Amino acid sequence: MDAFDYVIVGAGSAGCVLANRLSEDPRCEVLLLEAGPRDTHFWIHVPLGYGKLFAKSALNWGYESEPEPALNGRRIFTPRGKVLGGSSSINGLVYIRGQPQDYDGWGVLGWDFASLLPYFRKAEDHCLGESAWHGAGGPLAVSALGRHALCDAFISSANALGIARNDDFNGAAQEGAGYYHATTRNARRCSTAVGYLRPAEKRPNLQVRTGTLATRIVFQERKAIGVQIGDRVLKARREVVVCGGAFNSPQLLQLSGIGPRALLERHAIAVLQEAPVGEGLQDQAVGVIHECHAKDEAEHEHGARNPLGRRTGRSSHSIYASHGYCQIGLGQAIVSQGLQSFLGMRFPFIPKDAAHESI
Ligand SMILES: Cc1cc2nc3c(=O)[nH]c(=O)nc-3n(C[C@H](O)[C@H](O)[C@H](O)COP(=O)(O)OP(=O)(O)OC[C@H]3O[C@@H](n4cnc5c(N)ncnc54)[C@H](O)[C@@H]3O)c2cc1C
Repeated sequence: MDAFDYVIVGAGSAGCVLANRLSEDPRCEVLLLEAGPRDTHFWIHVPLGYGKLFAKSALNWGYESEPEPALNGRRIFTPRGKVLGGSSSINGLVYIRGQPQDYDGWGVLGWDFASLLPYFRKAEDHCLGESAWHGAGGPLAVSALGRHALCDAFISSANALGIARNDDFNGAAQEGAGYYHATTRNARRCSTAVGYLRPAEKRPNLQVRTGTLATRIVFQERKAIGVQIGDRVLKARREVVVCGGAFNSPQLLQLSGIGPRALLERHAIAVLQEAPVGEGLQDQAVGVIHECHAKDEAEHEHGARNPLGRRTGRSSHSIYASHGYCQIGLGQAIVSQGLQSFLGMRFPFIPKDAAHESI
């Protein structure tokens, strides 16, 4: 059968949630398309695997930015998940929602923080239980990470500098110093494929096709009626839902004739609708500081690799080049400051031996 009520392009964070919610109605036939494979890779499910999956691989689009004028013309490696769960299968598992001002600043009806909070709560199965800020029993597991003596010291140092303790960065305040929460359950990653798709996949009205790249949205006049896969068209009786992520969604729209006229014409794509699609992208800037100890130095001598898999100098050695401990070794503590200003910053603190000493 090649006709469905909804065709969802991309089985990432958004796509898996939508596949679950739309297929709750047994009268709706839903197709979920994913360019990458199923999420069977061992390191997806072990939180420390974050470092292993960061580099370009069959599970990661591994993009490079255009030369960045603000970064001395450097191209920046830009990972994105290409697998069931999308980037939620390879991400850093940090569960810190946007701050209310972010949503309110959009000025879009229904997308202000007060309107969104009930949905955040509905999504969560939070270790702190149900409250004004959190939900329990939802598909997205949110857990506390283990404590560590060095993290405690980091938090105490911040407190000594006048930065208040914060035990919940998704609570009343998002600033402060403390342990953050992670999207895990029983020390396993809770991607949207795990939390939302797995239970829905049992439904007969949901089909999931992996290894399937959509190359164009097919329009009848100005109505989207399907999706092109190679030389075939998969029809959507009601809607095509584009969930390809921040890079691939605009790309698919542009390939379908929706985008800046000059760009489309340069690539000989017929313009269906001129629109600033693909412009205005914002991303977080990340800088990493490593402190290496004698033991690390010895490991480097034995050919440790950095997250990009290259053998490089001492400063690139990181927890990502880790060796054997399969508990959570990701950053555990964080200091957030100045979030309401342009210069807002977050400093995660990552003890390399977190798993060994967690209590
Ligand atoms: C390395 C990394 C670390 C991160 N760390 C964190 C973190 O710690 N905390 C946090 O909150 N957020 C983090 N993020 C961000 C977060 O994971 C993303 O914002 C979120 O997953 C994006 O969801 P999405 O649905 O928009 O896209 P994605 O989850 O990326 O899903 C898009 C999916 O669509 C598929 N697709 C794209 N185009 C097509 C096509 N044409 N045909 C078929 N399939 C297609 C892709 O393969 C992919 O599976 C991180 C992201 C990355 C990459």
